[in-house]
Amino acid sequence: MDFEAFFTSELDTLKGDGRYRIFAELERKAGAFPKAAHYTGEGVNPVTVWCSNDYLGMGQHPKVLDAMHATLDKCGAGAGGTRNISGTTHAHVQLEHELADLHNKEAALLFTSGYVSNWAALSTLAARIPGCIVLSDALNHASMIEGIRHSRAECHRFAHNDPADLDRRLSEMDPARPKLVAFESVYSMDGDIAPIAEILDVCEKHGAMSYIDEVHAVGLYGPRGGGIAEREGLMDRITVIEGTLGKAYGVMGGYIAGSAAMVDFVRSFASGFIFTTALPPALAAGACASIRHLKESNAERDSHKERVAQVRRRLDAIGIPTIDNPSHIIPVMVGDAHKCKRISDWLLEHHGIYVQPINYPTVPVGTERLRLTPSPVHTDGDIDRLVKALSEIWSMCELARHAMAA
Ligand SMILES: *Cc1c(COP(=O)(O)O)cnc(C)c1O
Repeated sequence: MDFEAFFTSELDTLKGDGRYRIFAELERKAGAFPKAAHYTGEGVNPVTVWCSNDYLGMGQHPKVLDAMHATLDKCGAGAGGTRNISGTTHAHVQLEHELADLHNKEAALLFTSGYVSNWAALSTLAARIPGCIVLSDALNHASMIEGIRHSRAECHRFAHNDPADLDRRLSEMDPARPKLVAFESVYSMDGDIAPIAEILDVCEKHGAMSYIDEVHAVGLYGPRGGGIAEREGLMDRITVIEGTLGKAYGVMGGYIAGSAAMVDFVRSFASGFIFTTALPPALAAGACASIRHLKESNAERDSHKERVAQVRRRLDAIGIPTIDNPSHIIPVMVGDAHKCKRISDWLLEHHGIYVQPINYPTVPVGTERLRLTPSPVHTDGDIDRLVKALSEIWSMCELARHAMAA
């Protein structure tokens, strides 16, 4: 086989479909978020980032940076091993206590990322609980899907955010088989929120385990940043709560929280936990500082809400089509992969506004979009420039406007 020709022709197909991913090379400026430097072939340009998942700007918070600097100086760069073999440092243990407390659970377990936590926890639980059937929300994240697939357990997709469909499917199954229901709270591409209480009612009716991904909610919702389930007083009814330290907490890492036995089970059997070097202690310390701060401070959450509402109001006022949702994510709908990319390129080139186009397979074909994530670090001036630029490009691309209205 001519491997080179194969790789090239596969890539050409992606390019033809407008699905080829081009990464923007950025240098974030600590203390000046959302400003960053954009490295291009022609030079370095200043940009304002409008698509970061560092939702609250915690990646530049003095408490987080101080904790990371101090731990780096005290403990060095890496953890030095897997958790089992010399890699469990004081910072990791403290962070797991902080996470268990955040979700009011007996225990928590840290992984190197949210992706790994979903993959490892779901694959371990579904594979090792004998005869387990998994019910997975139709719009679950790739990390959950891959974990479930890897478990080789029987899996059924239920209609997105539809407790009635879940109930119907569970009712048709052998009551004796153990079941695990996996879903998210905030869905990151549409920004919609699951009816968690209703889903838990169904889980409890059928004796199913519940597994929730709160990756786009932890730090952001609930009086202490415990997520949507904390806000709605539902954490104690959920078997496994999964989250990330890389989005609102501004650092890196993933985790699960739950009963001591469940967490110890995953710790003891999950290959994706056992056979990999632990996170650097400085990252664990930074995440710990971030969680502690957001447990006590509502200032970031309040100002986040206000910024999101303001961007929504301004876009509505000029007729830019967005998906209406109750979360902090503002999907601006374009509906065409090539146009989405062109608009994104134009915003970057002419206005120094960086918002990555979101195309298939991340979202269905025909729903291509710009996913805006306003944050407390975006100023009124940043919002003015964004709204003006979007208004300009919407007028220029008359075709896009038609597609919008359709
Ligand atoms: C980003 C994401 C993850 C993975 O978290 P990382 O910490 O980035 O690996 C898991 N679930 C959802 C829904 C996500 O959007």
